[in-house]
Amino acid sequence: MNKGTLTGVGLGPGDPELITIKGYRALQAADIIFYPVTALNDGKQRSFSLQILHKLMIEKPCRPIMIPMSGKQRHQYYDEAYKTIKTEYEAGNNVVVVSEGDLLFYSTFGYLYKMALDEKIPCHLIPGIPAFIAAGSLGQLPLVEKEKGLQVIAKPENFEAIKKAMNQHATLVVMKISVLKEWYTFLKNEAPSFLYAEQVGTEHQFFTSSVEELEFRKIPYFSLLIIYPGISKHV
Ligand code: SAH
Repeated sequence: MNKGTLTGVGLGPGDPELITIKGYRALQAADIIFYPVTALNDGKQRSFSLQILHKLMIEKPCRPIMIPMSGKQRHQYYDEAYKTIKTEYEAGNNVVVVSEGDLLFYSTFGYLYKMALDEKIPCHLIPGIPAFIAAGSLGQLPLVEKEKGLQVIAKPENFEAIKKAMNQHATLVVMKISVLKEWYTFLKNEAPSFLYAEQVGTEHQFFTSSVEELEFRKIPYFSLLIIYPGISKHV
């Protein structure tokens, strides 16, 4: 039986022009595209990836991969999604699975990729620009320089965890920050130099280094923070 191909494509952070040429070509060559959909806790569904695909005007059959934000049965959803993808691949189709940002950086694709590897299904991977790199370009400061390091954390449990991470004297990227609420107070007291960025690359993009702009801001899921080390006030 003639099998198809399985390709993972990182779509970049949201701006349709921030996909690689290679990634765009893979989308054009696809027979079917799978995109992740997040079932949010309030019952709504959201697909950042699908919005990017629409902006790219990709006219290929697109099918959702439904994954809830949390919950014990998550692995069942991954199993289900993987089975569907595999069926299409085994039927001889060029299957593309997309991911917003990069495809191996906190992404649904990472789980599916492991399953494909376990079954020795060859995968082509086309990376994308992760959101924190795109956000870094909005910050008007080098993300990392000289002997400094870079640390990334996600879904911080509490502000103590952030403070501890800040002690490493590295630039700190915090992903999935909407799990905590009191960012205004924390940043005001603890982080003189930071960049907050939400929905980078979209028409709803917002970013600031001024803590006062965050006092009453509702922090959405698609937001991140870059905390710069050892610099006094961000200008
Ligand atoms: N694969 C993605 C990360 C997905 S995890 C990447 O490479 O960037 C989801 C988290 O990524 C969000 O909670 C948020 O912290 C961050 N994120 C993803 N896209 C974003 C965007 N366009 N603007 C701001 N933050 C974003």
